[in-house]
Amino acid sequence: MKPDSSKTLLGLDLKELSQLVEQAGEPTYRARQLFQALYGERVEAVDDLTTLPTTFREALTAEGRVIGLPKIENKFVSTDGTVRYLMSFPDAQSVETVWMPEGDGGEAGDGSEDEAAGDGAMAGEAPTQRHSWSRASICVSSQVGCAVDCQFCLTALLGVKRNLSAGEIVGQVSAVLKDNQAVPRQDRINLVFMGQGEPFLNYDNFMKSVRLLVEGIGIPASRMTVSTSGIVPRIQDFAAEPIRPRLAISLNAPNDEIRTRIMPINRKWNLSMLMEAAREYPLKSREVVTFEYVMLGGVNDSLENAREVLQLIRGIKAKVNLIAWNPGPEVPFQTPEQSQVLAFQKVLIEGGVPTFIRRPRGRDIFAACGQLKRTVSAS
Ligand code: SAH
Ligand code: SF4
Repeated sequence: MKPDSSKTLLGLDLKELSQLVEQAGEPTYRARQLFQALYGERVEAVDDLTTLPTTFREALTAEGRVIGLPKIENKFVSTDGTVRYLMSFPDAQSVETVWMPEGDGGEAGDGSEDEAAGDGAMAGEAPTQRHSWSRASICVSSQVGCAVDCQFCLTALLGVKRNLSAGEIVGQVSAVLKDNQAVPRQDRINLVFMGQGEPFLNYDNFMKSVRLLVEGIGIPASRMTVSTSGIVPRIQDFAAEPIRPRLAISLNAPNDEIRTRIMPINRKWNLSMLMEAAREYPLKSREVVTFEYVMLGGVNDSLENAREVLQLIRGIKAKVNLIAWNPGPEVPFQTPEQSQVLAFQKVLIEGGVPTFIRRPRGRDIFAACGQLKRTVSAS
């Protein structure tokens, strides 16, 4: 039987739940109870909605309503504590979501990049150590596959299969939190929308998921980062959002010639359009624009290229994250020498731009940037 996604509860916001409750002839406050159970308690089945009366639960079941958490099909655990999850949806499509614990039992903090951590702990928050890790990041997918076709990225080889719904985006986070017994209001959880897909080509669902993650799951937007390959009109829309994650832009090249070669999307929105959007982006206090730069040996990693990057981002309150290319089969690039990455970083830092080298996580299980969707059976 074809799955009926209109019966899925996960992904509905308070307004939609209020409509559902009203149609069922239940009192309005039940919508809040449902919202809390779905996002705050992360229940897995309609039968577990124990704050609701049995009659209402039975009515939901009779209508064919389901919670709609994705199913964890497979789990790959790295030597560094990173876990790559293969999650499937009722239509048999699947995506990957990555759990990256840090501190103590997880990776030791070594001063390298911590994506959405600019904010530090919230005021008055005294983190209690309930786990072997002290904080963690979840790398979330926004689409099944990706249409953008960056030449260095493994996900690109799939093409795009479909967008994820808001419920499927939130569901990845819920499922990973549950599996690790993590509780956002107690544990320090960061989200990075850097898994499969281009979030800004699934903009409405992505933004709805952000609101549900903030209001329902309880992760502040300041602890989230979204990465885009440079969908300029959506960067402009995003700038106007009242609640929004931090912005990261995949720059990846020092000039149009190289960028068009490795990121065909540059033909549509070239560097001058992209940098103008970045320049006009209204930063909140303590915010910066992050530029990601995948270093491809012999392609974009020369010191001359670093000086070009400095020129490009001049005048923007920015930081740069350098990512040494993570290899994948059938992708014809080379990882640069570490010495080259350090020399490149030095040029940027001396030019006044804070520049970090992103530590690869879970390379051994193909969980690092651009390596997702390596091991999927028939897709
Ligand atoms: N689609 C979005 C977000 C996901 S990719 C985007 O492209 O921004 C997250 C980051 O990984 C991007 O900066 C991308 O350029 C980088 N990346 C892709 N493939 C990579 C690879 N093989 N090695 C290292 N980084 C890669
Ligand atoms: Fe898509 Fe990002 Fe990979 Fe480019 S780097 S193909 S935008 S997932």
